[in-house]
Amino acid sequence: MIFNDSIQKFSIEALSKTLRTFPIEVQKIYPNSFQIHRGLLYGMILTPQGKRLLVIGEEEKLQKDPLRGRLVKFTPSFKVCDLSLENLPPLMELFPYTKPVPVLRAPATIGTGDRIGLATPGHIRAIRKFNIRPVLAQQSTRENLQTGRTLKEVMADAAWSVFQENYQEGYGADGDHLKSLREVKEALESGVSMITLDLSERLKAEVLTSPKKEIERRFGEGIDPGDAEVLLHLFLDKEFRFRGNEGDLNISFQKEEVKRLVLLFHSALAFSEEVYELIQRHTGRRPLIDLEISLDEFPLPTSPAMHLFLIISLNHRGVRIDSLAPRFVGEFEKGIDYKGGLSAFREQFYQHVLISQHYGNYKLSLHSGSDKFSIYPIVGRISQGKFHLKTSGTSWLEAVRLISLNHPSLFRDLHRLALSSFGEASKFYRVTTDLSKILPLEDVADSDLPALLDQPPVRQLFHLTYGSLLKSPLRGLIRQTVLREEEAYAWLLERHLKDHLIHLGIERRA
Ligand code: ZN
Repeated sequence: MIFNDSIQKFSIEALSKTLRTFPIEVQKIYPNSFQIHRGLLYGMILTPQGKRLLVIGEEEKLQKDPLRGRLVKFTPSFKVCDLSLENLPPLMELFPYTKPVPVLRAPATIGTGDRIGLATPGHIRAIRKFNIRPVLAQQSTRENLQTGRTLKEVMADAAWSVFQENYQEGYGADGDHLKSLREVKEALESGVSMITLDLSERLKAEVLTSPKKEIERRFGEGIDPGDAEVLLHLFLDKEFRFRGNEGDLNISFQKEEVKRLVLLFHSALAFSEEVYELIQRHTGRRPLIDLEISLDEFPLPTSPAMHLFLIISLNHRGVRIDSLAPRFVGEFEKGIDYKGGLSAFREQFYQHVLISQHYGNYKLSLHSGSDKFSIYPIVGRISQGKFHLKTSGTSWLEAVRLISLNHPSLFRDLHRLALSSFGEASKFYRVTTDLSKILPLEDVADSDLPALLDQPPVRQLFHLTYGSLLKSPLRGLIRQTVLREEEAYAWLLERHLKDHLIHLGIERRA
């Protein structure tokens, strides 16, 4: 019998047999998670109360083990631990790969995000088959407000899933779209490995169109004369030339344009510097946190000149970034393909890539990145496989698809609720959903429900209303249904994500 005095090896068959003798109801084991560590056997199980971490071994060792749980004296003895926030630090100490680390230095990276806390195993199953590194925890403050979760809970769900799937290659956790020093502080204290600083609300859009006189006045009054001199010197009377194998890019600035850009970015730059210093203080001299700057929620596309101005100004202030999310030309609506001219996108994406390669080789990051199949080949090829792509909401859509397959009446309830809350939810996003294109469900047979999830208006309907649905009384039933079918959910997600990775040209691993 393998579970004698000291555990040295085990087999899943023997383990299953032993668990059947235990005085607890084990509905399922997660075989990948089971492993021996310092003479104890650890692994994840499903009980009627939910997932639990099981530790098996000598009583004395179990008592010394830092995870908190209910110890049961048996042959062999064991301990059942909640997947609680309290048990997270000891988990990360015992199994360091469950702790998020900076990953953006890897060429291709993808942020997956998980709105219900059940999607990460499926993400891992897809990602581990390709040459790409994941940022598994990735939720913005807005998303957490919508779903009623905290950043800590989001990170805990990711860490427990990493343990469940035994994914040891390292993953990131992104405090996404943070807009204030307080939010950044909170994220750092929660242990994120990445900060996405959203500058869009700090940019003064009006200075791009206000009359020249107004610009002169604001520049004279708002910018310190010493700073003004330095800034003008940085940009005027020179040509910025970038050479690449798909053509060259030349940018030069006129005085008025520089003044407009200075005013546009002035407070955003000061804020970025403040955040950068905070990160440095938090992590020691060399920042061990991936830093992304996002402009994607600014009302106007980020022109190459704006990008160049921003990165030179950041460098001038000593701020180093790992990725930048411009607002690209065209529309990146949630849950559907890119809308816009492909050649315009290709040209601007190429220009952004040239600038990023020259000024620190940071990555370009694409937000609202799921389902943008028509531009993936361009992104993969022009960036030479070096990019960050953020997806998230479509994993929730796959959960809705799963529900349509397994629980049609719940799907119908969700559909009704989504329609009634769409107006409120759509205020947060830039979309052009035409609700009149959504068929009344009375006319749709149960067997045809899953196919609805391939229609753009239905995708957007559910994509935007996740908050109302996940905070409604149906939340428990949604989670139960997904958990009951978690293998099918993981399969759907694996298929969904693989499709993305293949279009992006990511190599499969041997
Ligand atoms: Zn974004």
